[in-house]
Amino acid sequence: MNPVRVRYAPSPTGSPHVGNIRDALFKHLLAKNTGGVHILRIEDTDRARLVPGCEDEIVASLRWLSIEWQEGFGVGGPHEPYRQSERKELGIYAKLVEQLLASGHAYPAFDTSEELTAMREYQQINKQPIGYFGGIWRDATPEQVAQARAEGRTEVIRQRIPRNTTIVIEDVIRGRIEWDSNTVDDPVLIKGDGMPTYHFAAMVDDHLMEITHIMRGEEWISSAPKHACLFDAFGWQRPAFVHCPVIKGKDGSKLSKRHGDTRVLDFRSAGYLPEALINFVALIGWSPGGDRELMNPTELAEAFSLDGLQPSPGVFDLDKLRWMNGNYIRAFSTEELFNRLVEYIRESDTLAYWSREGTDNPATAGHLSQLAAALERDPDFVRSLLPLEQERVVTLADFGEACAFFLVDEVEFVDQGREKWFGEAHVPELFTSMREKIAAAAALETADCEALVRDYAAAHGMEKLGPVVHPLRVALSGKTKGPGLFEMMSVLGRDRMIARFQRAEAMARSNG
Ligand code: GLU
Repeated sequence: MNPVRVRYAPSPTGSPHVGNIRDALFKHLLAKNTGGVHILRIEDTDRARLVPGCEDEIVASLRWLSIEWQEGFGVGGPHEPYRQSERKELGIYAKLVEQLLASGHAYPAFDTSEELTAMREYQQINKQPIGYFGGIWRDATPEQVAQARAEGRTEVIRQRIPRNTTIVIEDVIRGRIEWDSNTVDDPVLIKGDGMPTYHFAAMVDDHLMEITHIMRGEEWISSAPKHACLFDAFGWQRPAFVHCPVIKGKDGSKLSKRHGDTRVLDFRSAGYLPEALINFVALIGWSPGGDRELMNPTELAEAFSLDGLQPSPGVFDLDKLRWMNGNYIRAFSTEELFNRLVEYIRESDTLAYWSREGTDNPATAGHLSQLAAALERDPDFVRSLLPLEQERVVTLADFGEACAFFLVDEVEFVDQGREKWFGEAHVPELFTSMREKIAAAAALETADCEALVRDYAAAHGMEKLGPVVHPLRVALSGKTKGPGLFEMMSVLGRDRMIARFQRAEAMARSNG
């Protein structure tokens, strides 16, 4: 069998979203698994819908996720150029459409947009299939065509879909799919401005680039009969069709912005790790079999096969992505985590993302700026904080808030903690005493801090540690929950602890 050749063929008409990237990922994984080639082709023939900067964003999204392509846009290869507008300039499509005109598989049509609208309205009113099934041009005489040209009417080239027959494709995931050819309309192949449409350019390029599998989203199934007929019209061998399942929201609805249909690079800005997003996206509509869930990029490539693709819709479950992300964060060494966090905070999109209007969490921008400043001032201190918070955070962005209390000069005491503990009779003295012990301590490793706390409790005949540990935690962190107290004490160090106990002490003595 020929080596697998698959292509990711985005149109630069908007930012890549989860669906696009899953499309690219499946092809990357298939190519990797089979030793095949993944090609990146830019389909920019719809000039009216081009979005400036989009090509760069496509490349940046793929690179961030380490989705590789061995041939194509940006890397070159034997079928250059890989941008369709440039291929059009070379006359690749014009030459081939001539061939179809000559063999009768295509015809010129001269309908005005008013005529096309009227046709559609007529079809709607009369409950007929909607589309262009030939109009007056499919069977026009050479004289009619010559006259229309002489009148200077806008000319498009349409595909002549065979009539009164059945069009069949074998989809790798869905098996045999067939259409009554009388329900398949004649698509435009070359537009009035001379540009090829997606239908034509994509299929021509799939052939010329020796694509073995047309892998794409399920939304393209309705175009498949046209595409199959085009291959047949040229007498080319059809590639295999693989229509991957759509992605739906958890409630079965169409994916919306709220439920994950966001720019891929926004996931980066939100603090997701590329390996978590890749892992998550790969499992939407594909299953490795069994109940494997956490799989790194190498494991995914090893396990990937077309057999695991499901015909039913895949579900986007943000909770699952969050769970995965937390898992990947916990698995990092401190050094790796530190490097990822530095990279995340230095990325210019990060702060811009959190400063946007309507952000889910308006406090995050401030927390992340604080962390950025701390990284400049005292990177070792920030590094020492990470293991304490690593267990609890879900995204890199969460480190902003999680670390905030370590970095401020004056912690904010949560009401609940202050009200519960600062009024207790033993607490002012506890703070004074701890402050003095800390000032005098020779060392303040975690075990030393634990000994200080335990000795205090024992010396005061306290059987339970709670009435000591809880107020200390509130004094040092402002919060009632957080990392282990002894670790936290050790990381805060002498000066910070003394300052914090002094403030808490004053507050406890004054108002309780
Ligand atoms: N340019 C098309 C798109 O962006 C590609 C569809 C296909 O993979 O055939 O949706």
